[in-house]
Amino acid sequence: MPVLLTPALERSIDLLRCPTCRAHPLRPGNGALRCPAGHSFDVARHGYVGLLTGTRATSGDDAPMVRARERFLATGAFAPIGRTVARLVADAACERSTVVDAGCGTGHYMSGVLDRLPHARALGLDTSVRALRSAARAHARAAAASWDVFRPFPLADGSADVVLNVFAPRNPAEFRRVLRPSGRLVVVRPTGRHLAELRDRVPAMVAVDPAKEQRLHRALAPFFEPAVTERVEYALPLSGPDARDLVAMTPSARHVDRADLPDDTLLPGRVTVSVLATAYLPR
Ligand SMILES: [Zn+2]
Repeated sequence: MPVLLTPALERSIDLLRCPTCRAHPLRPGNGALRCPAGHSFDVARHGYVGLLTGTRATSGDDAPMVRARERFLATGAFAPIGRTVARLVADAACERSTVVDAGCGTGHYMSGVLDRLPHARALGLDTSVRALRSAARAHARAAAASWDVFRPFPLADGSADVVLNVFAPRNPAEFRRVLRPSGRLVVVRPTGRHLAELRDRVPAMVAVDPAKEQRLHRALAPFFEPAVTERVEYALPLSGPDARDLVAMTPSARHVDRADLPDDTLLPGRVTVSVLATAYLPR
């Protein structure tokens, strides 16, 4: 039986362009999205559309990482980050905004943005099929598609009012291309202090590269200028299980064996959360 499109995916089809020929719009047909040249992309029964076909450039987050992230984000521990993201987007958005979340993960942040903007719609892109299952049901107005952010986006020029990029890889030229001239890019990234106490106890966790901030600005400068930056920083009390989820949900999880984790008594009882959120204007 053909898979039905979710209402959110139906409402997002006008944004999409065939990722193979990069010219044609896509139309629904028989459980897939199709382009007039005959390219076809299956809609998964979980609700996302698989636009990333063939060999994947990156594997994306695996199931244990995604489960850890869902558990941890559900505790509300990062809610201040979500509120700041939603406010920065709301300040920039018009009433019927289209938000593209590049590297949407489980859809946590785009869902928070949609809660704040009752008439907006969102489309999340991510390589992780497991994360997309969650993203596709994160919000009634959020659609999800598999895509690798490093490749040219399967989206029409100037189709987004806001591009969201939270703890995710970046493609500045494509962010610029898909944004309307009046749009905004919102980027959230960790500072060197983020989770420092946890990193002290779990040496295999990847440190934040001190040159990262400079690299970000150099990469974005040809396309964007920063409009406003907010620092979100607070002490977060942390239980043993939450600390384990926090380690497991970050990219460092690939380098950390569960056996390498200290027992709960050696994990920090609180950590510093420290991120920067910047809204950029297109040049
Ligand atoms: Zn095509």
